[in-house]
Amino acid sequence: MAVIVRGKSACSVCGKVIEERDQIVATSQFIQDKADPLWPFSNTAIHKRCFLGWKLRSEFVDRYNEIAPSTFAEGTFHRMKSDGSFSIGAGNAEGDVSTTGEVDGGSGT
Ligand SMILES: [Zn+2]
Repeated sequence: MAVIVRGKSACSVCGKVIEERDQIVATSQFIQDKADPLWPFSNTAIHKRCFLGWKLRSEFVDRYNEIAPSTFAEGTFHRMKSDGSFSIGAGNAEGDVSTTGEVDGGSGT
């Protein structure tokens, strides 16, 4: 997961600082190709309000769900919802979801 320092790290969409109270969408480095137009937004944090109005949002979510599940340990999966929140569970992404949780990505320091 991206290292986000609230009050210091900048949103990769608007470029403004992410404040303590801001809701954010944060991802790991799920895109490795620096030529990819979505690369600048992987391993970063985006204000949730910026994410929701972002023109690349659906493409970003689709790409995340295409790539990211394979980067996590076997037995777990992450799915990004269209609003940038995550479904996290044990088991296979194709199977029943036994556990889901909301992650705002902001707990790390
Ligand atoms: Zn922003």
